[in-house]
Amino acid sequence: MNIGVLAIQGDYLAHKARLEQLGANVTLVRKPEQLDAVDAIVIPGGESSTFLNFLAERGFLNKLREFVSTKPTFGTCAGAILLAKDVENPPQPSLGVLDIRIRRNAYGRQIDSSIREVESKLGGEPLEMVFIRAPKIVRTGDQVEVLAKAGDDPVLVRQGRIMAATFHPELSPDTRVHQEFLKLVSNGDRRP
Ligand code: GLN
Repeated sequence: MNIGVLAIQGDYLAHKARLEQLGANVTLVRKPEQLDAVDAIVIPGGESSTFLNFLAERGFLNKLREFVSTKPTFGTCAGAILLAKDVENPPQPSLGVLDIRIRRNAYGRQIDSSIREVESKLGGEPLEMVFIRAPKIVRTGDQVEVLAKAGDDPVLVRQGRIMAATFHPELSPDTRVHQEFLKLVSNGDRRP
């Protein structure tokens, strides 16, 4: 099993380290053709508009859209924005494969970055969640399972083989979120 981490921008090295810690083989994906050699992809945090510019220039966007339409995919923060069907503040294009509406930079300036402890469906202790200029999921479609909420806001969701988090699990010592993704990669869509 070879997990690709999109390595254009953002904190891709933290994802690579976490996945390797869990025993996965990781390829840093910088060119569209590298997608042919991986079984799943992680799209890290960063700045979603910058990702879009880069992806558009290299004809990467269509290839990535094809990939995330059929293969296990995990997007964190800007990655979640790229996967969302609808993006606001401001509206921007996306890969459109995850049936959520997401609002960029939704928590305002004062609390734009924070660390919270949140209960989740992953079992065990509450999860530490690092939010950095985080987006807010403002709508979830029928097929979207909410795995964790911070207050009223879904912050970790799954739809079939796609997972998305509005926080940065790669920056906390807890490995459960990446473990959950690796389970999904080995088992496919595990929902009943
Ligand atoms: N604010 C960024 C965006 O809108 C996301 C921030 C992040 O990935 N930590 O794309």
